[in-house]
Amino acid sequence: MMTDTQRREIQGHLMNGLNSLDMPHTIEPFAVENCPDDTDFASQLAQQGVNMAVQRRKIARMHELETALKRLGETDYGICEECGQEIGTARLKANPSARLCIHCQSAREEGLARSA
Ligand SMILES: [Zn+2]
Repeated sequence: MMTDTQRREIQGHLMNGLNSLDMPHTIEPFAVENCPDDTDFASQLAQQGVNMAVQRRKIARMHELETALKRLGETDYGICEECGQEIGTARLKANPSARLCIHCQSAREEGLARSA
């Protein structure tokens, strides 16, 4: 079981993570078609692609953090699904959606690597 202090520590970390994502409230429509210059058009199109990729990453990260925040309230949060040991606050901060401790995770990855 995690202590209240650990729980609060991770909760603060998750909230900071969410705040630092700096999600825009609206995604600006991009007026690429109004661009008369071919080179500008191409670079703006490329920039738009980059922006969208960054946006998708942020959204995925936001979902991960929100899911972790919800799971934080559950009794089994921070407990390894494999061995039942504590995952540890350092690992949870780095990877808030972790469901396995570092030992079980690496054992599983080794197993996957061998079977591949
Ligand atoms: Zn484990």
